[in-house]
Amino acid sequence: MTSRRTFIKTSILAGLSMSVLPDVLNAAEPWSKKKKHGWKHWVWINPKEGELESELAIRYKKYYEAGIRGIFFGKDNESHFRIAKSQGLETHRWLWTMNRGDKALLEMHPEWYAINRKGESCAEKPPYVNYYRWLCPSKEDVQQYILDDIESVLEKDYVDGIHLDYIRYCDIVLPVNLWKNYHIEQIRELPEYDYCYCETCRMKFKEQFGMNISEIEYPEASLSWRQFRYNSITNIVNNIAKVAKKRDKKITAAVFPTPEVARRNVRQDWINWNLTGVYPMIYHNFYKENIAWIGDAVKEGVRGINNKFPLYAGLHLPDFKGDAELREGIKYALNNGAGGVSLFGDVTDNVLSVLKEFVKYKNV
Ligand SMILES: [Zn+2]
Repeated sequence: MTSRRTFIKTSILAGLSMSVLPDVLNAAEPWSKKKKHGWKHWVWINPKEGELESELAIRYKKYYEAGIRGIFFGKDNESHFRIAKSQGLETHRWLWTMNRGDKALLEMHPEWYAINRKGESCAEKPPYVNYYRWLCPSKEDVQQYILDDIESVLEKDYVDGIHLDYIRYCDIVLPVNLWKNYHIEQIRELPEYDYCYCETCRMKFKEQFGMNISEIEYPEASLSWRQFRYNSITNIVNNIAKVAKKRDKKITAAVFPTPEVARRNVRQDWINWNLTGVYPMIYHNFYKENIAWIGDAVKEGVRGINNKFPLYAGLHLPDFKGDAELREGIKYALNNGAGGVSLFGDVTDNVLSVLKEFVKYKNV
């Protein structure tokens, strides 16, 4: 894994079919009461070009036999999607939502990008790393651009759902294990990482909360200002959910590990999103936590969503030292209410055989 990729997933932390959709909409029949079909596991992958179809079919069949029921594909690739479907897997397109570094977009619409508390735009001065180019979620043009993009993904018949990643603000606080990489100690919310203070956000905040953010002495301590930003991202997600529902497609998200960490670090209030499933990235090493913490994080998330939709624990395979640790991590997730796990990293035959041990596991 490259360092860039490592950072991407770290900072994500900090990044589905009609059978589940009605559960979101029907509070009388919570998801947990229907959990009779066993565990559903997932994987995040970037499909490679030019792989032999016969080899893909063998690989995806093995995934299915190990209990994997869906794949989040980081790119469109019709052949991967169709072969995965033919092996019984759900195919979801994994999409970067608010972090958009497309060169053309940067050149055409620099005014769409988020602005920090120092007045610096992500279009000109990205925080932490060059590819951190966050859009402002309050602007209507940005909202429409994202919806159009998602429509174009979901109209394809081989795509079962949309999987939202980077569906949040820039990290105001990075996971503690990363502080050393950037030589920063984020023991308070620093203005250069705090977004968005653009004119649209200021105006909408004033309209909705009756306050002028410029007149608030400590905006980082304003609860209303926090709520405004939770709502801005929730609004984007719930509008995407309407598009997905209209097309009978699923909508899921890769989110920060617990509702509390998600709100604090990236203003992500995922317990209030209209999803068909949520995939918190419970990557224990990034927070310098032990494996038991996976269970605590799952429990907090499951309590937060209150059976509106299932939660699948995102596990970062490089964080586990061997099969025994992975087995322990999966147990912590399943015993605390997860519907399965979602794996990021190299899904080897060893990993698949550990997963397979859980096919008949019922300890919940
Ligand atoms: Zn803004």
